[in-house]
Amino acid sequence: MRRPTTLDDLPIRADLRGLSPYGAPQLDVPVRLNTNENSYPVPEQVTEAIAKALAAELRDLNRYPDRDAEGLRADLAGYLGHGLTGAQVWAANGSNEIQQQLLQVFGGPGRTALGFVPTYSMHSLLSLGTGTRWVPVTRGPDFSLTVDEAVARVREHAPDVIFLCSPNNPTGTALDPAVIAAVVAEAPGMVIVDEAYGEFARAGTASALALLPGHPRLVVTRTMSKAFGFAGGRLGYLVADPAVVQAIGLVRLPYHLSSLTQAAARAVLAHREALLGTVEAIKAQRDRIVTELRAQGRTVADSDANFVLFSVDGDQRAAWQTLLDAGVLVRDVGLPGWLRVTAGTPAETDAFLTAMAELAPLKG
Ligand code: PMP
Repeated sequence: MRRPTTLDDLPIRADLRGLSPYGAPQLDVPVRLNTNENSYPVPEQVTEAIAKALAAELRDLNRYPDRDAEGLRADLAGYLGHGLTGAQVWAANGSNEIQQQLLQVFGGPGRTALGFVPTYSMHSLLSLGTGTRWVPVTRGPDFSLTVDEAVARVREHAPDVIFLCSPNNPTGTALDPAVIAAVVAEAPGMVIVDEAYGEFARAGTASALALLPGHPRLVVTRTMSKAFGFAGGRLGYLVADPAVVQAIGLVRLPYHLSSLTQAAARAVLAHREALLGTVEAIKAQRDRIVTELRAQGRTVADSDANFVLFSVDGDQRAAWQTLLDAGVLVRDVGLPGWLRVTAGTPAETDAFLTAMAELAPLKG
C-alpha cells in the first residue's frame, strides 16, 4: 500500500513549509458568534431581487463577464457618496482579494508591509503569500495608536505598504483620522485603510474616505460581507485615486468577478435600505455587550465594529471551550487572556451573556 502524500512530499516554497491554513472553526452550534458575520438572514424581498437578477444573467453565461465590472463599480460609488465615481472604485471577491491585489502591485519580493498588531491576521498572511516581508509593530496595552507612535514607526521602517485597520479587528477600536492623516503624510509608499467594519462606527468616528482627495497613495478597502450581510456573496472593494485602480489592472486575473457575483451584488445595493437596517440593531447589541460585560467586572475594549474584545482574566482557551460547551461559539484570536464575540441578534446576546455569567468568577 502506498502511503498518502503529505505536504512534506511536495516542493512547497520554503517560507510556507510547516504553516497551517487560515480559518476559524466552522462548527454547527446554536449560537455562532466567531466570524463577525451579520446574524440576520437576507430578507425575502432581497432574495427575490437577487434571484431575478441572476436569472437575467443565465442565458449569457456562455460569455465572459464585464471584465471591469463598470456597472457595479458605479453603484458602489453611488452608495458611498463623497462625490466618488466608478473610476475611483475597484471590486473583487471579498476585500481579502482586494488586499491581495494591492500587495501584488505595491508589495512583493524585496518590499515590506507594516501593520500595528494585534490586527487582522490576513494582512500578514497576504504579505507572506505575495512574498512581501511583514513588519509587525506592537500596539500599547490598551491597543491604541497615537500620532507620535505611528509616525515614529513609519519613519523607522519606511515600509512600502502600511496597513491601518479602522475599526480594528480584533480590538474593535477605530483610529483617530489625525493618525491616518499623519501616517499618509509620512509614508514613503502606499497606505491601506481597512474599513471592513466602517458602517458600524459610532457617531463621531470618521471614515478615511474624506482624506482621499489629493492623496493618491491612500487606499480605503471595504466589504459587503458585514453590514450588508453578503459574506457568502463575496464582494469587497477599494476606493482610491483612479491611477491606483489602473495599477490593479496589471495584476488582476481577467474576468475575476463572475457575472453572477456582479449581478447579485448590484441587486443587493439596489435594496440596501432593507439590509443596512440591521446595522443599528447590531450596534445596539454591540453596546449592550460592552455595558453588560463591564457590569460583570470585565475589561472590555471600546468597539466601533460589530464585535467586542473582552478579557476573561485567565486562560482564554479554557474560557472559549466553556462557552462552546454552553453552545456559544466565540473567537480565540490568540491574544492571551482575551476573546472576541460578534454582536448578533438580541437572542444571541442573551445566550452569550448568560454563558459569560456562568464562566468562572473574576478574581478579587
Ligand atoms: N478586513 C477585516 C478587518 C476583516 O475582519 C475581514 C473579515 N474577517 C476582512 C477584511 C475580509 O472580508 P471579506 O474578504 O469577506 O471582504
